[in-house]
Amino acid sequence: MNRPEKLIVDGRRLDGRAPDEMRSLKIVAGPLQRADGSAYVELGNNKVLAAVYGPREMHPKHEAEPDHCILRCRYMMAPFSVEERKRPGPDRRSMEISKVIREALEPVLFLEYYPRAVIDVFVEVLQADAGTRTAGINAAAVALADAGIPMKDLVSSIAVGKVDGTVVLDLTKMEDQFGETDMPVAMIARRKEITLLQMDGHFTEEEFRHALDLAFRGCEKVYEAQRQALKEKYMVR
Ligand code: ADP
Repeated sequence: MNRPEKLIVDGRRLDGRAPDEMRSLKIVAGPLQRADGSAYVELGNNKVLAAVYGPREMHPKHEAEPDHCILRCRYMMAPFSVEERKRPGPDRRSMEISKVIREALEPVLFLEYYPRAVIDVFVEVLQADAGTRTAGINAAAVALADAGIPMKDLVSSIAVGKVDGTVVLDLTKMEDQFGETDMPVAMIARRKEITLLQMDGHFTEEEFRHALDLAFRGCEKVYEAQRQALKEKYMVR
């Protein structure tokens, strides 16, 4: 991909969005019947599936903890999810993202309820266009709720960043690749409690405050869509 001359033209981004606009978001709760809980998320051109199994007995047994349940997350990108074929299997990036997804979700779970057990969360990226970890966290949170696992609240996630000197919400691949800053954020939206914050690039203090404000507002929208997806599955008609 070549760098376009400008990423923002007349105040609009290359896909027509305003700087504070999120991509279209679609969430479906429970698309997989075999899993205990599942969710499908489309965020712009990202397509992500999450499947949850458990709490169930930990295998291998020696990885079990006597006083709490292990949350085991596995993030994977399908070989066909990006422009050039992605080499299948785990790599440093997928290991990092699996870890941050786990850390983003752990604060809402009552892991002490299920000693010696494991909850498995699988995040499979079918199509990637930047923000897959945020889409993965959004899908995983809905899948955990769909599995009936007790949770303090949902976790909602979105990235913010800076392109051509402008702070923007929810970067595309092009903006991520050629922009200055990418900052994925996850939070318990109703309490504004941050459970993930990573930053690639730089912000001034003022830009950071503005970016965080955009992230709060973005996560509130994500939260509403997550709730709506769960309501649609479980509403008694
Ligand atoms: P995130 O998807 O959470 O934004 P990154 O910032 O690491 O994570 O990746 C940004 C985007 O770069 C991905 O969503 C994907 O579109 C692309 N990408 C990541 N890894 C690869 C890869 N191995 N091959 C091609 N594109 C990739």
